[in-house]
Amino acid sequence: MALAFPFDPLKRSEQVEVQVTKDNKRLYYRFRPAPYYGGIATADAVGCSFLCAYCWNYNRNLNPERFKEFCTPQQVADKLCRIADKKSYGLFRISGAEPVLGERTFFHLMEVLKLIQRKKPGSLFILETNGFYLGFRTDLLTGFKEFPNLRVRVCLKGVDEESFEKITGAEKDFYRFPIVALRELEGLGVKAWPALMGDLFDREDISRLERFLRKSGIR
Ligand code: SF4
Repeated sequence: MALAFPFDPLKRSEQVEVQVTKDNKRLYYRFRPAPYYGGIATADAVGCSFLCAYCWNYNRNLNPERFKEFCTPQQVADKLCRIADKKSYGLFRISGAEPVLGERTFFHLMEVLKLIQRKKPGSLFILETNGFYLGFRTDLLTGFKEFPNLRVRVCLKGVDEESFEKITGAEKDFYRFPIVALRELEGLGVKAWPALMGDLFDREDISRLERFLRKSGIR
């Protein structure tokens, strides 16, 4: 997909969602046990609304259409549960991409959450998201209240609009959406927290962001 920087991440989300979904299926390229969080069953997807300079999946997310394994929510849940059984894990996640690019990927995710909660009632699902589409469509967030086993980690890509644009390639005006998502999730009582690639910023920048988040009602 030809891309001029900075780009409109909403348009990119729409285009990428078309590439990575078919009916209720989404493109994945790998299922694996991962050592993070003390051990977590991980489904690696492709397709993101951003294109972060440091993304470990940059090339896959730049050209997601070259992958061909479309999986139903049932296939994703089954594969993840098999890994969890084998490794005695109680944690699940989707990684490598943005789980929510639009409505189709959102409802795919909801189905995966439902199936895992049913199959593994005592487990936790960690939703690692850039928070962009969730902040744009806050009406979708009430759906998360059905899942007491859900934890949402919203990765803020920059400490301000300028660093956000530089890192993600997305227009700086969209910086606020992940912050809106965090505030709404907190209001709904969904357990969520902000994350930041701390190595990229100095202490003063991070403190400034912390003060801004507190002022915005985010713990
Ligand atoms: S938001 Fe995450 S998955 Fe998307 S490009 Fe950035 S680092 Fe990669």
